[in-house]
Amino acid sequence: MKPKPKFWKKIKRFLSHHGFIIGVILLISIPTIFGIILLMGVDPYQRRTILASSLIWLPIGAINTILFVIFLYWLHYGGSSFAKLTAKGVKSSKVNVHWDDVIGMDEAKQEAMEVVNLIKDRTKIKRIGGKVLRGLLLIGPPGCGKTYLAKAIATESGLPFLSISGSEFVEIFVGVGAARMRKLFKEARSLAEEYGGCIVFIDEIDSVARRRVFSVFGGTEETNSTQNQLLAEMDGLKADDNHNIVVIGATNASEDTLDPALLRPGRFDRKIYVDRPSLKDREKLFEYYLSKVKHDPDIDIGRLARRAVYKSPAEIANIVREATIIALRNGKESVGWKELSEAMERVDLGIKHRRHLSPKEKERVAYHEAGHLVVMYLLHPTDDVFKASIISRRSTLGVVYHQPREEIYTSDKERLLANIKVSFGGYTAEKIRFGNTSDGVLADFQNATQIAHTMVWKLGMNSLGLVGDLTAIPPEQLSEELRSKLNQDVQNILSSAQKEVEELLQQERHILDRFAQELIAKEELEYDEIERIFAEYGKTNPRFGSIG
Ligand code: ZN
Repeated sequence: MKPKPKFWKKIKRFLSHHGFIIGVILLISIPTIFGIILLMGVDPYQRRTILASSLIWLPIGAINTILFVIFLYWLHYGGSSFAKLTAKGVKSSKVNVHWDDVIGMDEAKQEAMEVVNLIKDRTKIKRIGGKVLRGLLLIGPPGCGKTYLAKAIATESGLPFLSISGSEFVEIFVGVGAARMRKLFKEARSLAEEYGGCIVFIDEIDSVARRRVFSVFGGTEETNSTQNQLLAEMDGLKADDNHNIVVIGATNASEDTLDPALLRPGRFDRKIYVDRPSLKDREKLFEYYLSKVKHDPDIDIGRLARRAVYKSPAEIANIVREATIIALRNGKESVGWKELSEAMERVDLGIKHRRHLSPKEKERVAYHEAGHLVVMYLLHPTDDVFKASIISRRSTLGVVYHQPREEIYTSDKERLLANIKVSFGGYTAEKIRFGNTSDGVLADFQNATQIAHTMVWKLGMNSLGLVGDLTAIPPEQLSEELRSKLNQDVQNILSSAQKEVEELLQQERHILDRFAQELIAKEELEYDEIERIFAEYGKTNPRFGSIG
């Protein structure tokens, strides 16, 4: 009984070595033998026809197979346009963004400087056994200068800059993204060979670094295979110690949408937040961009910066650019406050387009906007009027342009109520002047009702002392009585706000009339004019005093 297992083992070994060939032989020979047997039963004429057409199909099939294989090969490795890399390495002297050019992001800049020290002192760090930097993540909203900062890091550390967008890795063919990633790092290594190091910048990295999805078929989605390639390349950098390659990824998505594997030590383990500029940063940005164009010397940069709350550096650059275009069109030699103000408005509200209104309609729009304006100026705790206009834009006939004086991230009850009151300014002014109102109040009403509803139902600002988000409870679980009480609360907030606005506007009727007349005559009022008119009636903005 001894030779038997040996014999079977031999067979097994033979099969495991030559199984593939045997399979192919069987696959070809079985149909051929059966085919011949079947063909023998057919009459000679048909047999010839069948044989002839099979012979003709043979070379065609072979050509198809060859073409298919060539196509696959070309897709993955060849110089196909699919796998081609648009990233081009640029010498640091060509990127040329120095620390002096990085403005309006002091905090991020500070951290970036530290990163440059880490890159420069690499050998020193390695000698004392410290951790060498390989991956850096820049996180922040769009237009806030992430690319700019990455370029500055490359320039200041004197390394070539290789840049690509994450979206370029997103392809329908599985494997193409990964092939492109391989090419990117190959290029980086050859640049590093030449210049002693390289910065690889991957913008919108979230498009390849999303949390990986593992499907039940065990398949790899395109993003997964690209991401695996990125991780493999980054881990490869660790082994390859001679090349000073640092990968910088940028994203406006939040950190936790990224795959955790990416943030592990040795990969993107350092982060810099590039946020929207603060008031001080905005002042510096305006100063910087204005210094590059001819401008009036008396422009109040502080006020400009206050007015540009929430604006990104890219938007501020755009405002200054737009202002120079407006100045040119107006035949002016230099940019002044008026052009900057108009440019900012264009960025925010869209381009004006004059509609022809009858005098009666024009008067109604003027009173409506004057109502918003007076209530805003006299009652609002945080917001400031910057401009009022009855020239139509997009879908609106008029606008009172206002903004918080500082960045505000939350609203207290006072601010919410003030927003409701300002919304009622238009309706109430129409009511006082004409004794009736128009459908121009619809958007204002929607706004006011929504705020009041949120206050009562969601923010615990109701008279019943109920806290919590009551809209999260299925309505059938709330009694009819409770619901109607809450809805009554909403109505109470709205009607008492409206009443207060009506008292105010009746009392200041002369100011309301004056602003309506000014708007009819001039169509637009700037902040200075608005403030001057209020001052004529002995009103200063009670909360702010005067600014700039
Ligand atoms: Zn309105």
